[in-house]
Formats: sequence, C-alpha cells, structure tokens
Amino acid sequence: MSRVLIIGAGGVGSVVAHKCAQVPEVFTDICLASRTVAKCEQIAAQIKRPIRTEQVDADNVPELVSLINDFQADLVINVALPYQDLHIMDACLETGTNYLDTANYEPPDEAKFCYKWQWDYHDRFKEKGIMALLGSGFDPGVTNVFTAWARKNRFDEIRTLDIIDCNAGEHGQPFATNFNPEINIREVTQRGKFYENGQWQETDPLSQSRIFDFPEGIGPRKIYLLHHEEMESLVKHIPEIQRGRFWMTFSDNYLNHLKVLEGIGMTSIEPINFQGQEIVPLQFLKALLPDPGSLGPLTKGRTCIGCLISGIKDGKEKSCYIYNICDHEQCYQEVGSQAVSYTTGVPAMIGAMMILTGKWQGQGVFNMEQFDPEPFMEQLNLHGLPWVEFAGDLEDMKL
Ligand code: NDP
Repeated sequence: MSRVLIIGAGGVGSVVAHKCAQVPEVFTDICLASRTVAKCEQIAAQIKRPIRTEQVDADNVPELVSLINDFQADLVINVALPYQDLHIMDACLETGTNYLDTANYEPPDEAKFCYKWQWDYHDRFKEKGIMALLGSGFDPGVTNVFTAWARKNRFDEIRTLDIIDCNAGEHGQPFATNFNPEINIREVTQRGKFYENGQWQETDPLSQSRIFDFPEGIGPRKIYLLHHEEMESLVKHIPEIQRGRFWMTFSDNYLNHLKVLEGIGMTSIEPINFQGQEIVPLQFLKALLPDPGSLGPLTKGRTCIGCLISGIKDGKEKSCYIYNICDHEQCYQEVGSQAVSYTTGVPAMIGAMMILTGKWQGQGVFNMEQFDPEPFMEQLNLHGLPWVEFAGDLEDMKL
C-alpha cells in the first residue's frame, strides 16, 4: 500500500498518472497536483480509478510541505519543470518523503543543467533516511539502465558509449517540440559536449553530425551531437568509460525553424521590455507554440532510443546495441499521449515502483545506474516499453 503524489500535469504528468493507475497493487492512492488544477482534473477524468487533484505552486516550499503532509505521500514524482527540482527536494527533506524526477535542475535565468545542485543534497537525504532517484525518464533514465545492464551482462569493461535518440514521428505542424518547448529549445541551442579520456570536450551547437541506420525499418537518419545530462552521471558511476556521447535526430524543417528563431532573438532567455512589460522571448515563443500534450492525436511514426556500447568481454573486444522502439499512435490509443511523453512517463512510474516495492533501496541521492538494472528491465517489458538487443552485424553501426 503506497501513496504517490505526482507534481506536474503536462504531457509527461498525464502518462505517469495513467500508468500508476494501471498498477493499483503498488500505487494504492494517487494525487495529481499542478499549477493549473483544471489540467489535473482533465487528466483524472480520463482515468477509471478515482484520483485526487490539487492546485500547488511547486516553487512554494511551505505549500508543497502542507500538501505532502495532508496527502501523507510516501513518494513525490516530480514531472513539473527542472526549475522546480530543488524546491520539491526541499519539501521532501522537510517532510521525510522519497523523491523522484526525470530531468536535472536548471536555474531559470541560466540555460545550464548539471547534477551538482542535486548531488549536493546527498548527505541531507541520507541523514533523513530518505531516497531521491534522479532522472527516471527515458534519456536520462532507461538509457542509464540499459548501460548498467550491458555492463553487468555483456562486458567486463565498457570503453565507448553512444546514446542515440531518434524521433522518427511526424506531427504535421510547421514547428513544434515534443516536450516542454522552453526546456527543449534551451537544451538544443546550447553548446555540445562529450566525454573523452577523462575530459569534457565542447563543440559548437549542432556542429557534429553522423548518419545512423536505425533498426526495424526506421532506416538511416542524421544524428547530431548534444550535451545530455545522463553522460555526467554515467561517466562518474562507470569511470572506465573512455568516450561517452549523446546524439539526437532533428528534421531539416525543425532545424531551419530553430535557426531563424534563434537568429532573430526569439530563443533568448534574456528579459526584454515590451510595451512597458518585461517578457522573456523564449517564454513568449512557448506561448505561441503547440502544447506538446496536444500533439498526441496528430503524431504518427515511431521513436527509437538506445545505447550503442563497445568494450571488452573475456579479453576480447565486443559491441552491443540495446534499444526500444515506441509507436506514437499506439501510445495515443493507450493513454492519450504521443510517444515522447509516454517514453518518459512509463520509466517514471517504473522507478517509483522500484522504490515503493523496495527493489531499489538507498538513503541519499542516486542515479539510475547505481541500482540493479534487472528488475527495471523486466518491468519495461511488462509496461509498454519492450527492449531489444540488436542481433545483426554491428560493424556498420560504428559512429
Ligand atoms: P509540460 O510543460 O507539458 O508540463 C509541465 C507541467 O508542470 C505543467 O502542467 C505545468 O503547469 C507544471 N508546472 C510548471 N511550473 C510549475 C509550478 N511552479 N508549480 C506546479 N506545477 C508547475 O512538460 P512535459 O510534461 O513535456 O515535461 C515534464 C518534465 O519531463 C520536464 O522536466 C522535462 O524536462 C522532463 N522530460 C524528461 C525526459 C526524459 O526522457 N528524461 C523527456 C521529456 C521530458 P501549467 O500547466 O500550469 O503550465
């Protein structure tokens, strides 16, 4: 019997609520809280089980504390925005409640993300005897678990890790992002970064690309090197990794729009004065762009996210590629969301299940690769994100 408080009623929050509701033996009581309570109510109305809904400002720690205490939450799943991470962690510390999120902290006024701010909570969580699980989405999240699983079952030593994220879906909109536009654009427009021989190397934004031939009929697509947060924790916890990179596909249409928007200053996070009012151009742009939640009925095609790993086993060099393919339309049929929200929300539910059933236990702040990957991998197959280990020739897939 456990009580879970989900904070954030966007694309991902909706999937988390649907998926937790499908597992009543673990999630006996669910509360969905967000800034706009009407969004929580709309989601609750789609779910057959009763779900409590609440309004909360997740930047207001006393408000969060009173909601957590009133609901007597065993775990808070934070699927609001990265800006709220530290406030929600503060409230969890004050109330002695476990914490889980899918994206690491980012200060609102600086487009920079890193784990330091949240890792700094480790001793306080440990002293309080509670656990924080960071980055339990797909990437970060499942990609960390794939890497830990490969390390455990396929390699004695990992040498190179390439995480490759492809959204081969089409939504028919001139320009839209498939998760929160502000967070997405901040991530894509920042400088690229990868890890090599103990050092971080920086690249100009989207300046490195390759062609990768995705499996199961998705075919060759252009992938671009990005800085992504899971690389930071993976090279810390699996320090033998010699080179770690993250790649993502973008359509030419997406990149052309982004270039123009960036060129005219619309992606800037520097406030400007407009008719006597201070506005942030990127926040204004977000208000104009389609809500990612609204893309569900429009999106067709599949996502393919996986880890291409090379290393040593029994003294010999070997490679492996583990991936998941997820179909946008099937996700929509099941929970009313497109696959990007789905592939994030399902692992958030499974991470919560790992904590609440005691399969993953700890006191302090943890990343996904620090736990036994097996029970998580099992649940992926049962809850809509089956994974595959590529059986073909990996020679042609080298990047
Ligand atoms: P959305 O913008 O669709 O949803 C965010 C929700 O958080 C909205 O309901 C919003 O409320 C709510 N919110 C924002 N600020 C506050 C606040 N101060 N108090 C309470 N609620 C607040 O985003 P997504 O659902 O697309 O993304 C959710 C999270 O998932 C993000 O952190 C994103 O980075 C992460 N993510 C992780 C991925 C992974 O694989 N690890 C992949 C994709 C996303 P309102 O509706 O009122 O604006």
